[in-house]
Amino acid sequence: MCGIVGYIGTRSAPEFLLEGLTRLEYRGYDSAGVAVQHNGEIGIRKKVGRVEELGKLLASKPVRGSVGIGHTRWATHGGISDVNSHPHVGGNGEVVLVHNGVIENYAKLKEQLQALGYVFRTATDSEVIAHLIAHHLEEQIKLGEDPESQETCLKAIELSLKKLKGTYGLGIIFRDVADTIFAVRLGSPLVIGVGKGEHFLASDASPLAGYTDEVVYLSDNETAVLRADHMEISHRDGGRLKPSVQTINQVTVDLDLGRFEHYMLKEIFEQPESIENCLRGRIDEDSATAKFGGLNIEPQDLRLVDRIVLTACGTSWHAGLVGEYLIEEFARIPVEVEYASELRYRNPPLSDRTMVFAITQSGETADTLAAMRECKRKGHKSLAICNVVGSTIAREADGGIYLHAGPEIGVASTKAFTSQCTALVMLALYLGRMRHLSYHAGKRIIAQLREMPDMVRRTLQCHDAVKEVANKYQGFDNFLYLGRLYNFPAALEGALKLKEISYIHAEGYPAAEMKHGPIALVDEETPSVFIIPRGSIYPKVMSNLEEIKARRGPVIAIACEGDHRIADLADDVIYVPEVDDFLQPIVTSVPLQLLAYHIALKRGCNVDRPRNLAKSVTVE
Ligand code: GLU
Repeated sequence: MCGIVGYIGTRSAPEFLLEGLTRLEYRGYDSAGVAVQHNGEIGIRKKVGRVEELGKLLASKPVRGSVGIGHTRWATHGGISDVNSHPHVGGNGEVVLVHNGVIENYAKLKEQLQALGYVFRTATDSEVIAHLIAHHLEEQIKLGEDPESQETCLKAIELSLKKLKGTYGLGIIFRDVADTIFAVRLGSPLVIGVGKGEHFLASDASPLAGYTDEVVYLSDNETAVLRADHMEISHRDGGRLKPSVQTINQVTVDLDLGRFEHYMLKEIFEQPESIENCLRGRIDEDSATAKFGGLNIEPQDLRLVDRIVLTACGTSWHAGLVGEYLIEEFARIPVEVEYASELRYRNPPLSDRTMVFAITQSGETADTLAAMRECKRKGHKSLAICNVVGSTIAREADGGIYLHAGPEIGVASTKAFTSQCTALVMLALYLGRMRHLSYHAGKRIIAQLREMPDMVRRTLQCHDAVKEVANKYQGFDNFLYLGRLYNFPAALEGALKLKEISYIHAEGYPAAEMKHGPIALVDEETPSVFIIPRGSIYPKVMSNLEEIKARRGPVIAIACEGDHRIADLADDVIYVPEVDDFLQPIVTSVPLQLLAYHIALKRGCNVDRPRNLAKSVTVE
């Protein structure tokens, strides 16, 4: 994971780096650091904790200069400490770098470099890269190459990269090469911002907001050399590339919390708008179907698809499960939902009529990207449902659907999930209407879809009721989340939210399945959150609820407005508006998000920056 920034120009580098790191902090917040080059010296400041701590350090011990690199870390190798924070130094300080990714063969390389006399100061895998480059630099110099030349540095980088196994996004500066930043990418995203007499480097475009709209996305195996007024890009296989500068509209970051205390709460409350934005322009009333601008696949070809694989991680995987139910019900196409981390190494038989859909908020999730690439390698059309415009998955997919949910900053995904579900309803409708879903059925689905922003707005009125429930149950250490059909993925997602931000053990289960095991956990100390809106199998879920009550398990029910019967059975009820089965997860997940939020808050947890997590998982 982690966020990388870089700056070269005439501004104060530390100021840009600090601001950029704040915008990238969602990618990792174990520690942060910067390295700034000035008058042949590189000043490094790094600190455990949030970017704010680095800011304090810089205020008391400033570094000055207009060339620099920065990093906010999500530790993979080596503990969370000041010393293990990036930037890392190679040799005797002649190379300084920041790294996003994992070096799989670091242990062997470390041994070899130690045998050559290199002294390691940290327990990270990244330091190996710094020493390796320093080593090759020294060799080049011994061969008579100029230590101050860009070409010598490039050669040292190139020779080092050949020895690395793993993934990397790197920002590198050399003590003896003035005013130059080197950027390299394999598997971890990097974007270059092009300004007037200045260049920026970042893991995604958010640090560029307010500075430039002109960007160059670095691709795998490409190396960029950045100077204030010049940029060169070369490919590992040799040869210069002409940088493809793109103008991206609306690079904005909304870091304003408005009336909310946390991003997560703000994003929960943004859901009526984010769903509306996802629907906008995608409903074709006349043909009673959905329409998408970017699928890049002819309807005739889509008609031939006889199997769909949805691949994703975490919350997006839960949205995938909702998609499976939807597509199978509306379009009668068999769907499988695969964890991307499994799919990338499995070798499932996929026919040439199989279509793969990657689902991801960030568009940078390493496992999802790898799974998509694996499927593309085998010749399958691979599409993506993704929130971040211009992200790696969005660029590499053959086509796809953008969520238009706006930036999601809270680490626990909320509005991206409901937008993913909304996009999947439209996709299922589209695929269904190409097959045997009738015009009238299409019309009914559309009418209900159009109501969703208002339904979610109404659902949010449960906020006070949820707060009370959270107050009552905050002390419990185990929770079950139970639901059936479309509410089974909602149960999984509700449990995940609680785990992520309150560190409480929670399990999501299909409500009827609990009698095959988890019911053994039920006692007075284990509350069950039952998702039980009115719908096709309401009486069945009710029986499951009775089974829990018979064993004295406390029950919190998420039920439909006007369901008075449930109030007699459940200990607590949170009411949501009634919608058709297939739209229920969009509504029922809202109180579950709020419940996790308020329980976490009561337990004193950092809701937006939960421990051990990062927003965008760009390492395997
Ligand atoms: N593997 C490196 C470390 O643990 C980089 C991790 C990251 O991408 O933040 O420091």
